[in-house]
Amino acid sequence: MTKGNAPDTRAGFIVRLIGLDIILAAVIMAGTILLVKNAGRMLGYAFGAIDGLQFARGNSFLIAVSLNLALLLIGYRRYRDLSREVQERKAAEERALLLSSRDPLTGLLNRRSLCENGAEMLGRAQSSGKAVAVILIDLDHFKNVNDVHGHGVGDSLLRTASAIIVDKLPVGALIARLGGDEFACALTYDEGQDNSVTYMVDQIVQNFTQPLVADRIVVHAGASIGVARSTADADIDGLIRRADIAMYAAKHAGRNRMAWFDESMEQDLQCRNETENAMRSGIAKSEFVPYFEQQIDLASKRITGFEVLARWEHPLRGLVPPDDFIPIAEETGMIGDISEMVIRKALAVAKDWDHAITISVNISPVQLRDPWLAQKIVKILIETGFPASRLEIEITESALFDNLALAQSIITSLKNQGIRIALDDFGTGYSSLAHLRALPFDRIKIDKSFVMSILDNNESAAIVNAISSLGDSLNLTVTAEGIEDSDIADRLTPMGISKGQGWHYGLPMDGEAAAGMLALQTAGETLVPANVSVKRIRAAA
Ligand code: C2E
Ligand code: CA
Ligand code: CA
Repeated sequence: MTKGNAPDTRAGFIVRLIGLDIILAAVIMAGTILLVKNAGRMLGYAFGAIDGLQFARGNSFLIAVSLNLALLLIGYRRYRDLSREVQERKAAEERALLLSSRDPLTGLLNRRSLCENGAEMLGRAQSSGKAVAVILIDLDHFKNVNDVHGHGVGDSLLRTASAIIVDKLPVGALIARLGGDEFACALTYDEGQDNSVTYMVDQIVQNFTQPLVADRIVVHAGASIGVARSTADADIDGLIRRADIAMYAAKHAGRNRMAWFDESMEQDLQCRNETENAMRSGIAKSEFVPYFEQQIDLASKRITGFEVLARWEHPLRGLVPPDDFIPIAEETGMIGDISEMVIRKALAVAKDWDHAITISVNISPVQLRDPWLAQKIVKILIETGFPASRLEIEITESALFDNLALAQSIITSLKNQGIRIALDDFGTGYSSLAHLRALPFDRIKIDKSFVMSILDNNESAAIVNAISSLGDSLNLTVTAEGIEDSDIADRLTPMGISKGQGWHYGLPMDGEAAAGMLALQTAGETLVPANVSVKRIRAAA
């Protein structure tokens, strides 16, 4: 913005106002004096004119009086305009003041005024021996509501959420929207009465677990809440930060719950931040690699394919398992880069293996929100020269729940390329027949928790049996994961399950070892792990 059209400053406006006022006063005063003087003369001439004297001079005074009147009228009009401008200015200033302290969408306080008022609240509480609780509330599925139903419904949900919070907290509590779907509150309570705060916050959590109505649409939001109590060493910003850390802990513990801040959470966060930074540099240094887990035909005990499992070759920590970094990668958006790196490396090494061997890769629910996912996978196939018909993609049901329409379109694009699709971890999520029918799956993978416990848990056995029959009726291959010994394998075959994987057939291995395993298979070796040591596998590679 240039200086010439810069908006009026308050000081400039006042100077302009005073200037205008002086000019106006001068104009009105001059007009009035002239009017009085000229009108007096006019009257004299008017009486003279009755006698037929001085008519011409009377005429010119008539004109002068009209001019005076016009001058007064102009003065009055300018006065009226000026007072209107003053009023508008005042209203705008009041509006600006309100906006600077309030969130325009919900009418709640904003972050700045929460900090100002919160600092005062803390001061008052300290001098009267009371405690302050800072509560941070984050809606769990707001983004989903926004994406699926649009911003109108999203805005309405935020207003509904603010009404719930206001309703559940006591009069005098400070309630603010920090931005997006994040709310923060501060309230005083009696020292040692944390339970009273827990009760109130639990009520808020309970309310958010119910379906909510936003813009006449029923939505499911859920809330994760963190609470921090005042301590001698923390100011209001520090308490908001602690409540935020507790809120993340509540989210990680499974959402839809509350957590009080404790010191260990701060250490966990530091650890997590260090891992996150190391992961960023790990991506740059290409430290993420594929490991391969054999997929077996249970009858012949031959390897039919491999599942690719990501590992992080950390320079100091050694081989890091995916459970330690995939959740962080999903949260921070690094999952796409890591997944592409691992898939590219896996397909590049597996390209030259026996062409009957398939490769399965895991795709995270976060990646299924990327409309370009299918194109990215096809690009890797082209770059590595790996045939689409040998690739299978494993997705979990939770990925479908997020945005079924987008998942459907991505999966259809992948299927059109000749890639196969497996539904992973079946039995743990919704296990919905509707999902199985809505998408063109080629395989169901029974979650390892049922398979591992099949021998000593009748319920697990019944579930495995039921999934096998379901696969049969839908004409889908069923793979059992988590076969840890031969007894489990023997129990699965009579149930009609023909494919499996698990530690009984060996631990996941690097590409070199997998190639060696295949070489031994081609040479006619029996691939029972007891017979094949990792040393022999490497030697054959
Ligand atoms: P998953 O897809 O269910 O993979 C199977 C996991 O079970 C693997 O753990 C595997 O080592 C383990 N497993 C195999 N056989 C047995 C067995 O007999 N008993 C037991 N107890 N476990 C067995 P891993 O490699 O630690 O992977 C864990 C999870 O990490 C995977 O579960 C998958 O959800 C995720 N993951 C791994 N790699 C990737 C990846 O590249 N992308 C994505 N998005 N997720 C991945
Ligand atoms: Ca999997
Ligand atoms: Ca699985």
